[in-house]
Amino acid sequence: MNTNINNTALPDEAALEKLANELFRQADTGNGIPGQEVVAQQAIPPSVAGSGQSPAGILHGNNINIDNPQTGFPDKNLQDINSSSIAGDSLFSPALRLKEYLPYEADPAHLFNLQAILSLIPVDNGMGLQLPGTVDHALEDVPAYYFLESKPALVSSWGFDAYAVKKDFPILSEHVNGKPLVWLDNAATTQKPQQVIDRISHYYQHENSNIHRAAHELAARATDAYEDARKKVQTFINAGSPNEIVFVRGTTEGINLVAKSWGEQYLQPGDEIIITHLEHHANIVPWQQLADKKGLKLRVVPVDDDGQVLLDEYAKLLNSKTKLVAFTQVSNALGTITPAHTIIELAHQAGAKVLLDGAQSVSHMRTDVRSLNADWFVFSGHKVFGPTGIGVLYGKEDLLNQTAPWQGGGNMIKDVTFEHTEYHNAPTRFEAGTGNIADAVGLGAAIDYVNKLGIDNIALYEHYLLEYATRLLRQVPGLQLIGTAKEKASVLSFTLQGYSNDQVGQALNKEGIAVRTGHHCAQPILRRFGLESTVRPSLAFYNTCADVDLLVATLLQLRAAKR
Ligand code: PLP
Repeated sequence: MNTNINNTALPDEAALEKLANELFRQADTGNGIPGQEVVAQQAIPPSVAGSGQSPAGILHGNNINIDNPQTGFPDKNLQDINSSSIAGDSLFSPALRLKEYLPYEADPAHLFNLQAILSLIPVDNGMGLQLPGTVDHALEDVPAYYFLESKPALVSSWGFDAYAVKKDFPILSEHVNGKPLVWLDNAATTQKPQQVIDRISHYYQHENSNIHRAAHELAARATDAYEDARKKVQTFINAGSPNEIVFVRGTTEGINLVAKSWGEQYLQPGDEIIITHLEHHANIVPWQQLADKKGLKLRVVPVDDDGQVLLDEYAKLLNSKTKLVAFTQVSNALGTITPAHTIIELAHQAGAKVLLDGAQSVSHMRTDVRSLNADWFVFSGHKVFGPTGIGVLYGKEDLLNQTAPWQGGGNMIKDVTFEHTEYHNAPTRFEAGTGNIADAVGLGAAIDYVNKLGIDNIALYEHYLLEYATRLLRQVPGLQLIGTAKEKASVLSFTLQGYSNDQVGQALNKEGIAVRTGHHCAQPILRRFGLESTVRPSLAFYNTCADVDLLVATLLQLRAAKR
């Protein structure tokens, strides 16, 4: 069990209120419509988050005023950058020093905020509540991530501006319950930039056709667009050939494809499959079904109290009967980054194949399937700023071609008689029927967008934002972070003493903040921590410190109300 509970004495009410006010002040978007939020909020149904109901526009009105569309997220931090009074402030010198190796070169104000915010929280040394004295100190122990290469060079040329990036996503200008939407449900799905929306629209306006099998112009355009998207995926994950990229519906379908094709074909009774305790149901159920059907044994690698895979226990599970190791690169429930290279290498040494679930990693860190050396890698387009209904199964080319297809039909055949069918090689071998052409093209546009920002830039920015959010959340009395691995990405699962997770979700929703509450389709790992559900904010590169401030301020207010 995780004993890492924040059980320090609670700061007094006045201090909590002061902190909450300060966070609200900093998160204040200043959209300049006084009173509108209050009026709008009164008309809102009592709750939407966690209730399964949608926040019906009919009840709370359309908050977009055509004369004042309130696009973007004006933010004090942003304005502060250009303010000479702050730039010259001696308080800023530590922050300015940090600019040399921190992402926010264009936006140092948040560093000041972090220090200011943390300094407002009463320190209770007796109970072990340790607050960083300076920003330098606050960041000294930020873990180094193996996937960030040439860190100094990268950061010295930093130009990442999350506020500008946010404006590329039309939905992030929406209002919810009269408040600007703060999207912190990125582990469930990511929002789409205008570029992706436009690309799909362009496809339907100028290219739409079935592919691969017609002589006319539009068939050629659609085929080119689809195959071009395949090449973009290939380059994005550094696969050796576009033939290794199979378009599927998403991660779930990719895993099921491997289970129902390769698994059915090659696994024998008594064979063993290893997964980890961290897995999403999508990487448990297909193997369980296969195990039941074929008499296989499913073995589970345990995790420690921080949610980190126990490698020595894993090594003990490997043996000559192990035929497959299937695991996630990032846990969707805890955010743990697993030591993928090591797990894969050990599996291969034991003669097992490896499937790596990249659903939660692909948008947060560089993917290099050749360096990882997994036999299959799966991800979903909608979690990497692309459309729903499209995803990717990468497989080593020889392996794909040695595997019988799982679905039969058009597109995947070379020749059909009533006696016999000859199949194509990969990728079309596994793409029976008419695929999701438009959304594959949309995924290609999403990859272009991510490439434009630079995946290493994204990883670095998010790493810092996660650190910032973690430090602030730790200051909320009664909040227990679930998943405290040294290496994490995006996810901040927690529970808040005195409230059900749904109550927290509903309260956040009232402030326009979208988070997930529930079991996150990963019941086994939550039960490992004695829980059936958590509240799960999850970050993406368009989130800002102001988003985090609003989240924490709302939680502090909730806590204060219980005192
Ligand atoms: N694996 C992980 C780690 C996930 O987080 C998810 C979705 O949340 C999935 C698999 C399933 O993805 P999809 O529902 O897009 O198929």
